[in-house]
Amino acid sequence: MAGLRVLLAASEVAGFAKTGGLADVAAALPRALARRGHPTAVAMPYYSAVRRAGVPVEGTGIVLPVPMGTRVLACRVHRSRLPGTDVPVYLIEHQPFFERDDPAAGRGLYQQTMGGGYKSDYPDNAERFVFFSRAVLELVPHLGFTPDVLHANDWQTGLVPVFLAEAYRAKGGYQKTRSVFTIHNIAYQGMFGRDVLGMTGLPGYLFNHAQLEFYGHFNFLKAGVVYADAVNTVSPTYAREIRTAAFGCGLEGLLGGLGGKLSGIVNGCDYDHWDPARDRFLAAPYTAETVFENKPVCKADLQRRFGLPEDPSAPVLGMIARLVSQKGIDLVMSAAPGFLDLGCQVVVLGDGDREFHDQLRAFRDKHPDRVGLHLGFDEGIAHRIEAGADLFLMPSRYEPCGLNQLYSLRYGTPPVVRTTGGLADTVVNATEENLAAGTATGFAFGDYTASALYETVRWALTLYRERPDDFRQVVLTAMAQDWSWDRSAAAYEALYRKVTGA
Ligand code: ADP
Repeated sequence: MAGLRVLLAASEVAGFAKTGGLADVAAALPRALARRGHPTAVAMPYYSAVRRAGVPVEGTGIVLPVPMGTRVLACRVHRSRLPGTDVPVYLIEHQPFFERDDPAAGRGLYQQTMGGGYKSDYPDNAERFVFFSRAVLELVPHLGFTPDVLHANDWQTGLVPVFLAEAYRAKGGYQKTRSVFTIHNIAYQGMFGRDVLGMTGLPGYLFNHAQLEFYGHFNFLKAGVVYADAVNTVSPTYAREIRTAAFGCGLEGLLGGLGGKLSGIVNGCDYDHWDPARDRFLAAPYTAETVFENKPVCKADLQRRFGLPEDPSAPVLGMIARLVSQKGIDLVMSAAPGFLDLGCQVVVLGDGDREFHDQLRAFRDKHPDRVGLHLGFDEGIAHRIEAGADLFLMPSRYEPCGLNQLYSLRYGTPPVVRTTGGLADTVVNATEENLAAGTATGFAFGDYTASALYETVRWALTLYRERPDDFRQVVLTAMAQDWSWDRSAAAYEALYRKVTGA
């Protein structure tokens, strides 16, 4: 089959500028698509962060005229490549919009830190991303190929499918191009005033509740969903959940009406960085053949580093998370005294809300010989917890995809998860039935309660202590799972083929 030509537009790309998981997808998916033989390119804004990243950048000589309401702004286009590939990354330059980020001064890609320490969106975010989305469409004739698919991501590029359908498809070179829109987090929708319509140059009659309007606001994410030829999110379960009021953030009605136009594709896991056999942070790297000899060495190393007794028989429960309510920290705090009564040690790495920092610190200070805590962001510690813990805790309230459970599967550290979003799709619960079938990879519970979490950990420990053969089978089955980008890219390829008919 012929290769599909894909232009992926994103407001951040790992290695260039990053605030979250979107950047990982925007870097890894094009790389995997190119490996599968699809001509692929990426477009992103040329932030100060890109200049600081030190990636090689060249001029292209391309100057795009970008219509913004009654004005036309010029923008220069620069080009880099995804490291280690030929995939071009087109950098859309417009200094007043994109070269203001400076972490030392509290200025990020989308937000700035204000006087009282709180973060506030830039007041011109709508203008910045109307501009970027429009520039993506203007870039198309310069790519050297006509894209079969324009793949937009999250609210910042929500207007890409809109501009394609309303302003460009009638022009030569765009007729056959189809749009795909991926929702990475429905909590951020890009809601602005009606006045934004003027910047877009789109006709006023489109500002109605079936198209661009959401309760009097111009909603970029909704616009992307309405106009894209296909919509997906980052796991099949989250794709179902966001059709309900509990998860849909107001868009459940629209999403519920999409039928087969909305699907879910689990993100890939970067096994180059998360491979226990080649992990430079580990005291004793291991494979499925050596896991039961070397993992205990990693566990002792972890206990030592956290100042805990090097007791091989004490089950270590590990957790790595942004310390925000999404991640179920409140359940862990309520259940943790019970974990200690079960003879466990608890090790937590995280950064986030002050209240959780305080609670965790108090808990550690009360049980310094049972609880290890590192508040902050530390990649090496994250790897050591994945390898050294016996179980990994991830009791999220909601989880569009989740990566940590994928790492813990690969590291043979069975995850204890709540069955939501990507957690439900990637972890097979160790029920008696699944144990007998040899399919279990972790432990799962449904109710968002501390007692459900506690009981699930208790069941996991029953296997760990009393049925070690079963527990070992869970470890080995977990390690054998394939959540690689290649698998994910194959699913995107199928989606692209469906939407283009190619
Ligand atoms: P989310 O994107 O909601 O934060 P994921 O599980 O999808 O959750 O991804 C989190 C990523 O960030 C993982 O790579 C995880 O290892 C990493 N991470 C989160 N907190 C920390 C921390 N304090 N130190 C190091 N890595 C962290």
